[in-house]
Amino acid sequence: MFGVIVGTGFEAIKPEFNDCIVGHARVERLWTGARWTEGPVWFAAGRYLMWSDIPNNRIMRFDETDGSVSVFRDPSNNSNGHTVDRRGRLVSCEHLTRRVTRTEHDGSITVIADFYDGKRLNSPNDVVVKSDGTVWFTDPSYGILMDYEGERAQSEIGACHVYCANPETGAVKLVADDYTKPNGLAFSPDESLLYVSDTGITHTPGGPAHIRRHRVGADNTLSGGEVLAGCSEGLFDGFRIDRAGRIWSSAADGVHCLTPGGELIGKVMIPEMVSNVCFGGPKLNRLFICGTTSLYSVYLNVNGVSPV
Ligand code: MG
Repeated sequence: MFGVIVGTGFEAIKPEFNDCIVGHARVERLWTGARWTEGPVWFAAGRYLMWSDIPNNRIMRFDETDGSVSVFRDPSNNSNGHTVDRRGRLVSCEHLTRRVTRTEHDGSITVIADFYDGKRLNSPNDVVVKSDGTVWFTDPSYGILMDYEGERAQSEIGACHVYCANPETGAVKLVADDYTKPNGLAFSPDESLLYVSDTGITHTPGGPAHIRRHRVGADNTLSGGEVLAGCSEGLFDGFRIDRAGRIWSSAADGVHCLTPGGELIGKVMIPEMVSNVCFGGPKLNRLFICGTTSLYSVYLNVNGVSPV
């Protein structure tokens, strides 16, 4: 199934970007009708993608077998970022209920994290599961700053941090406390590095609009945390990593491709501001792109890291 062909395609900034793309592949708009799309996640066995429409309080589902789109969950507690765990279960960040949940195979909901140190979380934004089963998530305040994407409320924690939850024990561990608005996050292919974006510029003039890089210790503590790359157009929200360690990140004008060292080598141009991306398709060589009101995709000559 083809979507509507849109956009101007690719912009190579460095010649090596040409090895990452299929020159005649086109950006397709697969669906439109959301207010703010976020949190794409690919389910390989079923060949479908799910994503959030945060203000409309629903999770959508794109079926790759026939191109159809349907509502998966409504209401969704203003869900934002999603991922899939090592047993193929949906893991979700929810703004309204200020928690991270897992949807079991029977459809029931298990809460993975909703408090830290006796205080409610702000509004978990994005999430990734490590191969040891731990659930890493960011907790900026976007879902409690206004009623549009959640419900206005005071922050009980009083700051925005990055956490690691252990679903087996229920423990929620603080792993980074020096962010303004931590947002997207992803591990390097060997999980030795954790990348986290900071979108603090949205509410702090001159604030962060960059991705930082941490080293991950054997005990799941972080070190380092240097700024890897600043965003040249807007800000980096959600992003994913390909098998060569390149970063494919959301930005104001599309998707930016960065080398593992943080150099911008090219872009996939999208006609709307992009919030997040996800590799999908049987070979994980199709990039699904959440762009404000619409879901886009493009085939690439790279492969995503398998989430399961
Ligand atoms: Mg986000």
